[in-house]
Parts: sequence; structure tokens; C-alpha cells
Amino acid sequence: MINFISKLGRNKLALFGAIVILLIVILSIITPVLNLVNPNEVNTANRFIKPFNETHWLGTDHLGRDVLSRLLWGTQLSLVVGFLAALFAAVIGSLLGIIAGSLGGRLDNIIMRTIDVLMSFPYVLLALAIVAVLGPSLMNALIAVAIVNIPFFARNVRGVTITLTNSDFINASRLSGRSQTEILFFEIFPNVTPVIVVSFSTTVGWMILETAGLSFLGLGSQPPQSDLGSMLGDGRSSLIIHPHTSLIPGIMIFIIVMGINLLGDGIRDALDPRLNQGSLTRSKPMTDVARVKIPTKRSNALLEVNSLETKFKLNKNEFKAIENITFQIDKGECLAIVGESGSGKSVTALSIASLISSPPGMISNGSVWYKDEELLGLTYNKMRQLRGKKISYIFQDPLTSLHPLKTIGHQLIETIRTHGNLRTKDASRISVGLLEEVRISNPNLVMGSFPHQISGGMRQRIIIAMALSNNPDLIIADEPTTALDVTVQAQILKILENLRKERGLSVLFISHDLNVVSQISKKIIVMYAGEIVEYGDTDKILNKPLHPYTKALLNCSPDLNSKKLLISPIPGNPPLITEQIIGCKFAKRCSKKTSSCLEKIILIKKINDRQLRCINPV
Ligand code: ADP
Ligand code: MG
Repeated sequence: MINFISKLGRNKLALFGAIVILLIVILSIITPVLNLVNPNEVNTANRFIKPFNETHWLGTDHLGRDVLSRLLWGTQLSLVVGFLAALFAAVIGSLLGIIAGSLGGRLDNIIMRTIDVLMSFPYVLLALAIVAVLGPSLMNALIAVAIVNIPFFARNVRGVTITLTNSDFINASRLSGRSQTEILFFEIFPNVTPVIVVSFSTTVGWMILETAGLSFLGLGSQPPQSDLGSMLGDGRSSLIIHPHTSLIPGIMIFIIVMGINLLGDGIRDALDPRLNQGSLTRSKPMTDVARVKIPTKRSNALLEVNSLETKFKLNKNEFKAIENITFQIDKGECLAIVGESGSGKSVTALSIASLISSPPGMISNGSVWYKDEELLGLTYNKMRQLRGKKISYIFQDPLTSLHPLKTIGHQLIETIRTHGNLRTKDASRISVGLLEEVRISNPNLVMGSFPHQISGGMRQRIIIAMALSNNPDLIIADEPTTALDVTVQAQILKILENLRKERGLSVLFISHDLNVVSQISKKIIVMYAGEIVEYGDTDKILNKPLHPYTKALLNCSPDLNSKKLLISPIPGNPPLITEQIIGCKFAKRCSKKTSSCLEKIILIKKINDRQLRCINPV
């Protein structure tokens, strides 16, 4: 709750809306004790007094009634009626939605078809028809507005409930022996509440407007009682000569609806756990860079990463996700990064391509050289020409990286045409060639298929084909085989290996699996908690790991050939990026830890054939 309020408070517009609404609500609550003149007291001798009069601050209307008094009483009435209508619609609509969604079957059909019938009438017309049948009065206007809004809640909530009922945690709850009613109350209801709250907060303003609309037409509040809508209706006839009688209630309606909508949007954003900062922040197309100095290029490598450091800003604090990352990849070379999940592999890869979302991320130190160009200093247009053309990226999950509604052919052709001035026919021919290159046996058939129609291994091959489509120099592959089974994994590794040899491609290959890495790469980097702990030739590191972490990782992977089937997991968990550790970050879980490991920063040093960040090597 506190978290929710602080998130809401950080959204300036929502805060403004909340303050406006709070002021109006307080004003409505204290209206009875304000010692105002009777809002319905008629005094035709004092008709149409202009505002800023001594006795009538906001003037009088066509019957000489005090506008200020009528405005405050009217606001109170409008707020209460609009809010009650919204509450009524929300409760009934959500109940119907939950019942229909969770029970399904015939009941669902009956409820939803009734709702469909309600929805098939034009909205306003239906409200008018209901009031016409029930007779004009404020209560009936409330009922009409509530009824026409029930379908909105019912449909929203039913949709969410259906998704929830089919989810695994509900199945788990069933397995644990909970009854249908318990599941409804303890599992489904808490999960649909945010949806109801959001729908409520974003529609209550609209419903105030609708009740005011009915009153404006004379179908809501009846004289002498008046709400903002009927005040507007009364003022309409003298709009030109005495504008204050309609302008004042109009402005009030505007302020209320605007305030509620701003607050409603804020509530929606604050309830969405994906929007960390409490408001919708769109990440920029490139990562922010804030460096003091730019490290110079030191080698002739195709890609040189120098002291790279990336931070994330979480709740006003900045945390380093990776630091001091330095490595090179030559043309035609494959370099692998291994480490447990959370060790900073993806952040490293994404930082190289400036794909870390900013906010919350930013590159706070280091440089990335591609040939003679420093990538982190490039303009967006320059970067666009490199990303996808010279540097391609393969993501872990092939299903989510493909557009679900477009055919494979369409997506390949689009990728090719984005960077080259080719005709569709030529791009199509190239696409088929690429599919053959990644060993897809029936490329023409696959060109016309949608991503969901083909297997995971095929999808990942298509992603590789896409990555190849513009003849890149470097492919960054972030756990490209993790979502695949071992046989398909072997095929994909083979394809990547062949491409590297045939095309002279450089590959940055990321995996958490040392076995996989040893098959594809001559050099490896072992990462732990955002730092490189060991870096060198794969053979040497695998034969004789020096860092206790590398050794522990090796002990975790079964080796079927040497009959070493017993695996020993590493005790404990890797540190979170929010943890401040001086010295070795692995010390907490290390069997060779001494007191000096945690005393001062451990630097990475060159030892014989490799680089190592450890003072007590294995
Ligand atoms: P992995 O090695 O599994 O690819 P990542 O590079 O994704 O690990 O993550 C490294 C660390 O950075 C993790 O501790 C993670 O919590 C943090 N991190 C990654 N992305 C974000 C983000 N968008 N916001 C905050 N922290 C992040
Ligand atoms: Mg990752």
C-alpha cells in the first residue's frame, strides 16, 4: 500500500489530479456547514447578477438563485450520483464477469449473450430509453447510467478471469485441494481486483459526465433540486447574454472529470508492476551513456570492449549490474561468456548493442569499439545502420522474438529490405537462400508459415537466418539454445560453427552451460556478479580451472564420458545487484575463502595463460 502511494506520488500529473479531487471532495463534505444561502431560494428581483458581487460571489441565475450555493450543492450531488453509479456498475458487472469467466458453460453463455444484447443498443440511446421507461428522476438516471456501464466491467473482468482460470497457479491450487468457491475468493478475486480498480478509476469521470448529461436533458435531477448537469441546462437559454450561469457549472464539470481521469490513469500505472517508476516511461531507442572519459582503442580486434560498466537506477539509487568488462573478439573468432543466471551476461551483450533500456539503465563507464568506431558515442541514425546490419543479435526465446501475426517470409524480407534497397522479389530469393543455409529442408513452405506453426528448433534457425540476412560481421547470441532440447541444440551449434568458418563471422556466444560453450568457442569468459572472474582459452580453463567459481561451475555439469555423474551444486545464491560487497563477490560461497578475500577490491590479473580475479586460486 505504501509502495503504491509512493509510486502514485512520483507521477506528477496523477498527484495533481489527486489534489484537485481531494479539494473538491473536501469542499463537498463541508458544504452543509458553510452557512450558504438556500440554493433554491428564488428572488426574481435579483435575476442575472454578475459574478464578484458582494452578496453573491458568483452572481445569480435566471430565478435570482445564488450560483455559488447552487454550484457547491450541485457538485456534491453530481459527485455522489456519479460515484454511486460507477460503484453499482462495477460491483454488478464484475460479479457477472467473474461468475461467467470462472464457471463457464451455459451460465457463461446466458450472461454474456444478455450483455451482448445490452451492448447492441447505442449507448446513450439505451440510457435515454431506460430513463424514459422509469420516468425522469435523479435516481433513475443513476440506474440508467449504471446499467449501460455494466457490460464494460463484465467483459473486462470475464476476459481476465478466463485467462486466470487456465493458468498453472490455479491448477496448483486445485491440486492442493481447494474448493471452487475458495479458488474464486482467494485466488481469482485478488488477481482481478487491480483490473476492477483500474476500470473503476478510469470510468468514474465518464459516468459523472453521463449523469450530468441526462440532467442537462431534463431527465435527471428535477427542480428545485439541481446537480451540475441541470445547472448547465438552466443556463443554456441565457448562454450568450449571461454566460456565467452556464460557464461556472461547465468549468466545474471539466475540473472534476479532468482530475478524476488524471488520478485514474495514475492509479492504473501505479498498479502495474511492470512500470517500476509508477508512471509510463518509454525507454529510449538507445542506452544513455554518462562517462567521464572514453578509454582509447588498444588492439586491432573487430570488437573491443574496454572497462564497460552499466548501472540501473532503482528507486533513486544506482546499482552496478556489470563493471570492468574488458575483452576483444577478432574477425572469425568465437568468444563465449558463461555464468549463472543473473551474473550479468545479458546486460553485457545488450550494452554492447546499446539495447539496455534507459531508464532505468545507463552505461556509466568504458567504451565499445567496433573496427574504428566507438559504438557508445554514436548518434541513433549511425547506430541504426550498424545494428541488424553489421552487428546482429539472437535472443534466447525464438517464439517471442518473431512477430506472431506475420509469416516467416514476410519477416525475413522486411529485415533484408530495411537495410538494402532491394525489390521484394530479390529479397525473397535471398530469404530462401538463407533458410537453406541454416539447413531448413523445405524453405518455400516455411516462408509461408507463421511462427506458431513451426517447431522451436526451426524458429531459432529462422532467427539465425534473420541475423545473417544483412551479412553481419558480428553475431551476438544470447543463450540461443537454452530453450531447445539437446539434439536441436547440437544442430544449432553446428550451424553457427559452420557459418563462422564459411563466412568468417565473429560470434559472441552467451550461455550458462559450460558443456555447450566448450563445443563452440576457443576462448571463454567466466562471469560472476557482474564481473569477469576468469578469461582465457577454453581448453586450459576447462582442464585446469583456477578460479574456485569456475571449478564449482564445472562440478555442476555432468560429464557423461568420464563417468563423473555426481554433480555438486554451489551452495547459496549469487548476490543481488543491490548488495554492496567489498572484495571478492564469490567469497560468501567459496570453499577457499580467507579473511583477506573480503578486505579490499580484488583486481583481475594476468596469470600465465589467462586473466584471473582471485587471490587464492585453486
Ligand atoms: P544473466 O547473466 O542471467 O543474463 P542479466 O545480465 O540479465 O543476467 O542480469 C544481471 C543483473 O542485472 C541481475 O542481477 C538483474 O537483476 C539486473 N538487471 C537486469 N536488467 C535489469 C533491469 N532492467 N532493471 C534492473 N535490474 C536489472
Ligand atoms: Mg540472460
